[in-house]
Amino acid sequence: MITSKLPNVGITIFTQMSQLAAQTGALNLSQGFPDFDAPQALCDAVGRHIAQGHNQYSPMTGLPALREQIATKITRSYGINVDADHEVTVTPGATQAIFCAIQAVINRGDEVIVFDPCYDAYEPSVELAGGRCVHVQLGLDDFAIDFEKLAQALSPRTKMIVLNAPHNPSGALISRAELDQLADLIRDRDIYLISDEVYEHLVFDGLPHVSVLNHPELYERAFVVSSFGKTYHVTGWKTGYVVAPPALTAELRKVHQYVSFCGVTPLQYALADFMAEHPEHVEELPAFYQAKRDLFCDLLAPSRFTFNRAAGTYFQLVDYSQIRPDLTDVEMALWMTREHGVASIPISVFYQTPPEGQRLVRLCFAKREETLREAAAKLCVI
Ligand code: PMP
Ligand code: GLN
Repeated sequence: MITSKLPNVGITIFTQMSQLAAQTGALNLSQGFPDFDAPQALCDAVGRHIAQGHNQYSPMTGLPALREQIATKITRSYGINVDADHEVTVTPGATQAIFCAIQAVINRGDEVIVFDPCYDAYEPSVELAGGRCVHVQLGLDDFAIDFEKLAQALSPRTKMIVLNAPHNPSGALISRAELDQLADLIRDRDIYLISDEVYEHLVFDGLPHVSVLNHPELYERAFVVSSFGKTYHVTGWKTGYVVAPPALTAELRKVHQYVSFCGVTPLQYALADFMAEHPEHVEELPAFYQAKRDLFCDLLAPSRFTFNRAAGTYFQLVDYSQIRPDLTDVEMALWMTREHGVASIPISVFYQTPPEGQRLVRLCFAKREETLREAAAKLCVI
């Protein structure tokens, strides 16, 4: 008889919906990944580095050239300097970075505050560390932090707060004023932060991404996590990084060196080359994805779905109250996939207590124009 360490964990909604899409032949707008290729120069660089024999372990902390490029990108994007040797760690994916950060600081009995709807990777990691997640619901319409609820959720056991902006699944951003409010609230407390910023370069309508890296008081206690998967259209490369002050980085690396030791070497070489040669790539991303968001939303305008355009990420929430209010979002996602050929993600699975009457599913618009047109055509006749 196995006593599960994660009795409440099943197969993720991403796997379930992608599998159903494959089985039914539906367009897969569920799990978040592009259906177009990464830049050719980036793919070519991997082949080149493999041929050149860059096939053995990289340094545990990440290839120095890549850590330098990350630091350079941070200076360009946020106007600040981080120490590539002592504050930047490359990991096999942001997921592993989050896991290592949680294992590094969470002890038995600690509480970690997460905001619902909450990305699914945080809670299992907290539970494995012997901690417990305390769920605080974001605003129903704006998905903003309710600081009163947050203040009520704080306890002497609170050891960490997990932020995620741009936010998956809602696309909501965080403002400087909100970060200031958070800093005021936790100033005299021993609380760490994870700031999951994997969608940092996917922000629209000229709005900035407000990074915790730009908030010195919060950064002192933060692990700031990002992913090359989102920024360079290579989710399957599972390569990400964490930026944290030296003392936190040292603790994180103690875990990372025994979870994986290092990331995949030729991928790190290729990313370092591409970042050096194409620094403009990240600056062009907002316009690139905004065009996709706008095309998709324009095509959906005549449908019976209602929505507010996503401010960030490559996800669009759509409300189906005018179509099948009788269905829960899980039922709606299954029905849309099976009967209408478009797979989506129901968002109730990201809540501890799903809000009564919420009728939202998430659609990924990181797709070629023809995929978006085909999907919208199907969605417009539902
Ligand atoms: N955080 C969020 C909010 C995500 O949406 C994702 C994945 N898509 C990750 C972390 C994980 O990123 P990675 O694939 O680099 O592990
Ligand atoms: N982050 C991706 C999403 O939100 C899923 C990644 C995964 O499948 N674990 O769709």
